Amino acid sequence: MGKELRFDDKVVVITGAGGGLGKAYALFFGARGASVVVNDLGGSLKGETDGDATGKRVADGVVDEIIKLGGKAVANYDSVEFGDKIVETAIKAFGTVHIVINNAGILRDVSFKNMKDQDFKLVQLVHVYGSYKVAKAAWPHMRKQKFGRIINTASAAGLYGNFGQTNYSAAKLALVGFTETLAKEGAKYNITANAIVPIAASRMTETILPPDVLDKLKPEYVVPVVGYLVHENTKDTWGIYEVGAGAVTKLRWQRAKGALFKGDDSFTPSAVLKKWDEINDFSAGSEFPNGSKDLLAIAESSPKLPPNA
Ligand code: NAD
Repeated sequence: MGKELRFDDKVVVITGAGGGLGKAYALFFGARGASVVVNDLGGSLKGETDGDATGKRVADGVVDEIIKLGGKAVANYDSVEFGDKIVETAIKAFGTVHIVINNAGILRDVSFKNMKDQDFKLVQLVHVYGSYKVAKAAWPHMRKQKFGRIINTASAAGLYGNFGQTNYSAAKLALVGFTETLAKEGAKYNITANAIVPIAASRMTETILPPDVLDKLKPEYVVPVVGYLVHENTKDTWGIYEVGAGAVTKLRWQRAKGALFKGDDSFTPSAVLKKWDEINDFSAGSEFPNGSKDLLAIAESSPKLPPNA
C-alpha cells in the first residue's frame, strides 16, 4: 500500500462542517495532520440555533472529536456571509489558510410558481455570496504564500435542473462559473480551484431518498476526492467532479458541431431552422471548448461562406 496523503502544516477552513459532508471532511483532515477550522452556524446537535443546554454548538462537537483523536481544530460559528470572520479565526489560531472547502448550504425548495423573493435570495446569499466571502478573505493569504486549494460545492440540481429548486440550481451552477474563473486567476499563484458535485446521505437528502439508497451514499465516499484535489502535490484545477457512492467522474462542457452563417441579411430565423440539425449535432462536436475564444476561432478560420440559404 502506498503512503497515505497527509496535510501536516496545512490550515483547512471547512464551512458548514457541523454535520453531513463538512463534518466528514473535518474529521478526515483532522486525522491527517491539518489544522482545521470547523465552521458552522448550527446551534445544538438537534439543529436549533441557540445551542443546547450546555451551550455547545455542532461545530464544537466536531472540534472535540478531532482533538480527542489527537488532531488540531477550532470552531467558528459565523454565517458564511461573514466569510472574513471565518478566515480571521484561521489566522488567529493557526497563522494562515491554505485550503478552503466551501461546503455550507441550505435548501428552500418550492416550485417556481410559489417561490418568494426571499427563498431565492437567501439561497444565493448562503451558497454564492458565502463561498465568495470565504474565498475572498483567504485569497490574499493564498497569493502571498503562493499556495492555495479551493473546493466549491456545486450540485446535480445546478447542472441538470431539479423540480422545486430553481433557487438552488441557479446558485449551484453559479459556483461552477465562480470556480472556473478562480482557477484561471489563481494559476499564477499555485492556487487551484475545483468544483465537486456530490451526492451523499445527510440532513439534506435523508428525507428524499429511501434508506437502502442512503446506506450506499456515505459522506465518507466523497471525502477521498476532496482530499486528493486539495493535496499540495495535486495540480489539477478548473475541474468539475461528480462524486458519490464510490463513483467518481469528471464532467466537461461539450460543444455541438454547430453551423456558420454569413453576417448579412440572409442570416434569418429560417436560415437557422435550415441548419438546426447541425447546430444540435454533438456527434462531430469539440469535446472541451475553451469558451467564446473557440467560437471566434471557428468563425474566423471558416472559408468564404455562401449566402445563407
Ligand atoms: P447538511 O445540511 O448536512 O450540511 C450543511 C451544513 O451547512 C449544516 O451543518 C448547516 O448548519 C451549515 N450551514 C447552513 N447555512 C450556513 C451558513 N450560512 N453558514 C455556515 N454554515 C451554514 O448538508 P450536506 O448534504 O452535508 O451538504 C453539504 C454541501 O453539499 C451543501 O453545499 C449542499 O448543497 C451540497 N450538496 C449535497 C448533496 C447531497 O447529496 N448531500 C448533493 C449536492 C450538493
